[in-house]
Amino acid sequence: RQWCHELPKVELHAHLNGSIRDSTLLELVKNHGDNGVLISKDVEQMILEKGTSLRKCFELFAVYHVLATDHETVKRITKEAVEDFAADNCIYLELRTTPKKNEAKGMTKRSYMDAVIDGLKAVDTVDVDLCGCELTNKKNGDWRRKKIFVRLLLSINRSEATSAAIETVNLAMEMKEMGVVGIDLSGDPTVGQWDTVLPALEHARKLGLPVTLHCGEVRNSKEIQAMLDFNPQRLGHVCLLAEEDWERLKSLMIPVEICLTSNIMTQTIPLIEYHHFADLYKSKHPLSLCTDDTGLFSTTLSNEYYKAAVTFGLGKEEMFKLAQEAVDFVFANEDVKKHLAQNYEEAKARIL
Ligand code: 5GP
Repeated sequence: RQWCHELPKVELHAHLNGSIRDSTLLELVKNHGDNGVLISKDVEQMILEKGTSLRKCFELFAVYHVLATDHETVKRITKEAVEDFAADNCIYLELRTTPKKNEAKGMTKRSYMDAVIDGLKAVDTVDVDLCGCELTNKKNGDWRRKKIFVRLLLSINRSEATSAAIETVNLAMEMKEMGVVGIDLSGDPTVGQWDTVLPALEHARKLGLPVTLHCGEVRNSKEIQAMLDFNPQRLGHVCLLAEEDWERLKSLMIPVEICLTSNIMTQTIPLIEYHHFADLYKSKHPLSLCTDDTGLFSTTLSNEYYKAAVTFGLGKEEMFKLAQEAVDFVFANEDVKKHLAQNYEEAKARIL
């Protein structure tokens, strides 16, 4: 477990609101009070039962969005999420979030994202590299201070209209110089139609923005096939694929973001021993271990590596290689990849 903590790690699938600390969430509930929309006692109960089914997750996300969608809170949860990942020895974090409008709070999708950037600037336990420049000054010139590369993905929620999804893609383009490196498609997989979001995803592709899709969280062959036809840069989850779609995924070699704890807790996969990680790993399919929602599923990236090691019998060299290979799938540029590769070379001598 300690070794998995020391291992430098790359996180490619982490949702901002899913990464809220329990302590922060409970504080937000307390400050919010009972106002007819949210009843503290009900929310506390929901938090106790968090992550135990896909349906419960999305009920809770609706609550998170009431509690956390104002500029100050967005800034705070961003700062805390980055500090938590850095404390877990994550050296590259691709943090994804759905830009939200909240007219009552004077929030636009752009001002929501500006609050995220403010949160990155507020990080003070670690140096943050965003889009090639360091946001935090080395305290007293301390060169030993840890550094984390942070890049952002803008999420399209599946329930959004085409025009709102296109607005998110245009915002990503506008913020390319501010660390935004791609687009994610997420949200309740039982809601929304592929055809509604496809024009926005095609727009992203035309603009040269890499795309990752949540795929196969529910059995929906038609949609899974359409996603494979789209051939995105990465796919998340890929749990419930029919045999022929599974073979197609493997032949397309689309890198997969694997979220072990998330898939088990939401009961998308019945038992970790049956997880498709084993098949993909054996087939040398490109993949990367990820947390999905550290807060919602009470996990860390180290914990995901530890679970993979003990469940699938991987040794230190195999774990190291798994972590190192994730560098190939980051959406950041070649310079960042070179830095990360160098980090792994240095770590090799230290921990292997
Ligand atoms: P946010 O984008 O608000 O920062 O992070 C929370 C949102 O991410 C949720 O409302 C949901 O749209 C998306 N999300 C988080 N975890 C999952 C997941 O496991 N599956 C899917 N499909 N979407 C998720």
